[in-house]
Amino acid sequence: MPTALLRQIWGFDGFRPGQQEIVEAVSDGRDVLAIMPTGGGKSLCYQLPAVMRDGVTVVISPLIALMRDQVRALREAGVAAGALTSGNTQDETDAVFEALAQGGLKILYMAPERLASGGTVNLLRRAGVTAIAVDEAHCVSQWGHDFRPDYLRIGELKRDLDVPLGAFTATADAETRAEIVSRLFDGKQPVTFLRGFDRPNIRLAFQPKDSPRKQVLAFVAARRGQSGIVYCASRARTETLAAALAEAGHSAVAYHGGMEADARRQVEARFQREDGLIVVATVAFGMGIDKPDIRWVLHADLPKSIESYYQEIGRAGRDGDPAETLTLYGPDDIRFRRMQVDEGLAEAARKGADHTRLNALLGLAEATGCRRKRLLAYFGEDADDCGNCDLCETPPKLFDGTQSVRKALSAIVRTGEWFGAGHLIDILTGNTTEKVRARGHDQLPTFGVGHDHSRGQWQAIFRQMMGLDLCRPDPARHGALHLTDAAHPVLRGEADVTLRHDTTLRARPANVIRT
Ligand code: ADP
Ligand code: ZN
Repeated sequence: MPTALLRQIWGFDGFRPGQQEIVEAVSDGRDVLAIMPTGGGKSLCYQLPAVMRDGVTVVISPLIALMRDQVRALREAGVAAGALTSGNTQDETDAVFEALAQGGLKILYMAPERLASGGTVNLLRRAGVTAIAVDEAHCVSQWGHDFRPDYLRIGELKRDLDVPLGAFTATADAETRAEIVSRLFDGKQPVTFLRGFDRPNIRLAFQPKDSPRKQVLAFVAARRGQSGIVYCASRARTETLAAALAEAGHSAVAYHGGMEADARRQVEARFQREDGLIVVATVAFGMGIDKPDIRWVLHADLPKSIESYYQEIGRAGRDGDPAETLTLYGPDDIRFRRMQVDEGLAEAARKGADHTRLNALLGLAEATGCRRKRLLAYFGEDADDCGNCDLCETPPKLFDGTQSVRKALSAIVRTGEWFGAGHLIDILTGNTTEKVRARGHDQLPTFGVGHDHSRGQWQAIFRQMMGLDLCRPDPARHGALHLTDAAHPVLRGEADVTLRHDTTLRARPANVIRT
């Protein structure tokens, strides 16, 4: 009886949404892929079936500290569990081997690196392994930033042992799922569960970057004394923002992959232990952070994709209490993220997919209605307006931007797709700079046709055009904008564009036209 065990061993009154179906499928010996958000209770989904099943379930996980915690908790609850990791003492390892030999283990945690040693498969076969569970299954994805080469051996392990496998992850995008299926399940579709992605206690908000440092300081000042994470796109920026926050009297430290392992561990431990510490970090800070009362996550720079965004904000409010998030984004972020994709070593198809993931995030940033609804729709879930995002609270003012966008696109075309937004705005607003004059751009038909908008408004329009992927900056040409296929219907008058009035941007007056 699963529910009786649930109470007896874990002390839980019932299943969380989604858990029961997964537990049943795993118990029935099916191959299972379960996608649940962080904190959704994945471990129970393989631990409970393991207790009910004959033989040993081997659990592969990349997180040593987490494995040790779980083994300790299981043992305290009376479940025979052990772990084989590099963190073991020789005595601990001997005890695990002994227990395996005597058939006295139900759950064996193992780091993926173990699979590289030839004896492991034999050991597991002799030990009577009857199921495999894979935690953080997205680590098998070569394109994700958590890639673990040894995860690629798991598919072979499943074939050798010929036992059912349950794969668990919080990464939900369709591409990663497909990769998990092909690498862990030999391409045979497992029973798949995807649910529970809503984290209704997390407030969602985006703001165009205006003066980022001020925006960060203001956000944090309103939340003095709370624990939070500021994510930055570069190592250097973590240092400067941490210093700025410290100077403003906050307890803030930087964290990034360039720091010594010791220093990083120290920050992790402090964050876990101290109240009100702010960690200003790159994405290196994340997997394995298990602090329930992170009250806010602030993205000082645009994340790389909608999946990264969701994972990173998902670290807030695991205790279920209200938590807040804010993401700052601007044209420089879009340029940087596009450049990262374009200049990466991936093949063309891969780059196309990465641009699409980035577009999904930009679409969320420039959304005109409830952000949560849009976010959940991306993960395949339906939802109503949430009432807990900036756009539900203050619906944006929209306007028909078709004419303005058309003007901007034709300015791009008429200048040969050779210029960035700044120069194009000079042309549109009729600003006779030296560069405009030198290139004869004051003679273009588009010169001055956009004087009805301020410079700030044009900046917002260009940013939204990039967000809608109507034009892209070219990193090889200093961010010169070129049109995408999506722009042509707009130019030809076959598609309309709805834009948002930015309320947060400081209104910068258009430059006065000197005659
Ligand atoms: P995940 O691996 O999905 O991030 P965990 O398995 O670590 O999540 O579970 C997150 C938290 O939820 C843990 O503290 C766990 O004890 C708790 N939990 C899991 N299932 C239940 C349940 N059915 N009832 C109450 N608490 C649960
Ligand atoms: Zn909403």
